[in-house]
Amino acid sequence: MQPFAYIKPTTVEEATVRSADTEYLAGGTLLVDLMRLGVMKPAKVVDITGMPYRAIEELADGGVRIGALVPNADVAQHATIVKRFPVLAEALLAGASPQVRNLATTGGNLLQRTRCPYFRDPGVSHCNKRNPGSGCQAIGGYARSHAVLGTSEHCIATHPSDQNVALVALDAIVHLRGAKTERTLPITSLHVVPGKTPAREHVLEPGEMITHVELPATPFAARSHYVKVRDRASFAFALASAAVALEMTNGTIATARIGLGGIATIPWRSREAENVLQGNKPSRALYQRAAEAALAGAVAQETNRFKIELAKRTLVRALVEVGGVS
Ligand code: SF4
Repeated sequence: MQPFAYIKPTTVEEATVRSADTEYLAGGTLLVDLMRLGVMKPAKVVDITGMPYRAIEELADGGVRIGALVPNADVAQHATIVKRFPVLAEALLAGASPQVRNLATTGGNLLQRTRCPYFRDPGVSHCNKRNPGSGCQAIGGYARSHAVLGTSEHCIATHPSDQNVALVALDAIVHLRGAKTERTLPITSLHVVPGKTPAREHVLEPGEMITHVELPATPFAARSHYVKVRDRASFAFALASAAVALEMTNGTIATARIGLGGIATIPWRSREAENVLQGNKPSRALYQRAAEAALAGAVAQETNRFKIELAKRTLVRALVEVGGVS
């Protein structure tokens, strides 16, 4: 591991003064791994575990605000989240292991980095995300776990988080704080597809930190569900996942939110599927049409072509469980 300066600030103002060669340390479940592998080599590591963002607060308007340092396990077990935002609790419990969930934080999970094996292999593999301009060994290589949506000719790495797919289906809002700025973003504006610059994964500026995630009170959050398909029943990343939230009015789908995971370079919101569903009565045929629309733009490699059909079936299953069939 490359030597680095360790800093533990006592105030938010101190924590948000930093440069591009600095990384924040919270749970450390990913940063420490990647530093040991030599994938991430920050000059400074700023330990933010002393910051105050550790609470889950119920808001007067019915929403919930989750501090960036709240462990994933606490969110998954919180009574209000389980009852009113079940897709989030289910997604968190489907991710990682109990030990990791006890340490991993809400903010860290939002910025979780890909598990592309070439990205994690700095000794041998070419990777545009880790070393811009060096090529992408996954394209034309072994890409079974890689993405089919949001890809580019420079990177096809899958976004690995379950939490973030659920947050897409809940219209979550991310709160950011910089040295002199505060701003909010819809979750769908936080991550960026790789395009020509795969090393850039999100829109945070140097010195900006995530302080909270807000779950707004919406008419679709309570009727929500997460389905994850993976190679083994626990401690495995999604091959395909679907987060579905529906508002039903008089037997018709009034509002739909569809998040897809395991198949895209960012937590994927499928507006195409939502448009098919909204205003219609639930049926298997409708769900199938929505799934076809969601995957219409998929681009596969030889080794991950199976994901297109798998993702469609995963979404249909989630829709049947949430919306039923008439
Ligand atoms: Fe690197 Fe992306 Fe290619 Fe993986 S898919 S090797 S992360 S450029």
